[in-house]
Amino acid sequence: MDLTHRPRRLRQDRVRDLVSETSLEPTDLIAPVFVDATTDERVPIESMPGHERVPVDDAVARVEEVLETGVEAVMLFGIPESKDPEGTRAWADDGVIQEALRQITSETDAYVITDVCLCEYTDHGHCGPLEEELRGDALADGPACEPTLTVDNDATLGALEKIAVSHARAGADMVAPSGMMDGMVGAIRSALDGAGFEGVPIMSYAAKYESAFYGPFRDAADGAPSFGNRRHYQMDPANAREALREVRLDAEQGADVMMVKPALPYLDIVSAIRREFDHPVAAYNVSGEYAMLHAAAEKGWLDLEAVALESLLSIKRAGADLILTYFAEDVARQL
Ligand SMILES: [Zn+2]
Repeated sequence: MDLTHRPRRLRQDRVRDLVSETSLEPTDLIAPVFVDATTDERVPIESMPGHERVPVDDAVARVEEVLETGVEAVMLFGIPESKDPEGTRAWADDGVIQEALRQITSETDAYVITDVCLCEYTDHGHCGPLEEELRGDALADGPACEPTLTVDNDATLGALEKIAVSHARAGADMVAPSGMMDGMVGAIRSALDGAGFEGVPIMSYAAKYESAFYGPFRDAADGAPSFGNRRHYQMDPANAREALREVRLDAEQGADVMMVKPALPYLDIVSAIRREFDHPVAAYNVSGEYAMLHAAAEKGWLDLEAVALESLLSIKRAGADLILTYFAEDVARQL
């Protein structure tokens, strides 16, 4: 038996770290933070143990908790005091995110990224204003030839421009459009540049899938669509080549960071984008990925700390440079 090659030699305790291919640091992680204009006190999010919606006045304290763990970046999501069909509170100067941003950026050193979308601000919960459409691209199932509703792509772009500029004005370090509208990165880039914010990078949710793993987030951000679903703008989970096409379009439009969402069920996409592009790749370890590990751990079926760390390590190994995750604080404390 020829056993010249024994990979086990390098698995001994004192050499493992020297030959380790992947490392995870608190500075690779971004912690999502939910700011809620409808509450005066923190509200626990039932399906995401350990996470809360915090009032605007608590946003600084919440971000400071994140910073104490060694995580340096947060992603802000807002729940507005009121909603309407157009989502106008998303770009209001005194909107929930704008108010929180001013406080966080003046009182902390956090790197603050903002979600740029309309779904938490529209009363119907879709990612843009609606238009009637006779056939084809419809959100609501109706008999053929009856008008049905879909998101008006090009009208949404104008709203996204206003949101991004208002966030930059309020102090956002980076903006992250998540609505999967065609042309959103180009529209936001030129709006930011036109307003003097050439230095604000765009992290595009370039390949965002229409996924059932977002369920718990919808409790958190109160952003479930009131009818239909988002399959006419978010990607089909069956498609991989299309993700590269989406990323290519965003690269042409000037996106600085490319995100894949969700993460664990889409590691092949993370890996393919890593190979094909030289942009930093982000992956969003979504609420469902978090909730299922918690649920199994509660039953005593999994060791939560170990599986959380292994999940994030696998996302990094697949090629992600940065990871948005609800485990950010817990894993940073372990590292
Ligand atoms: Zn949205």
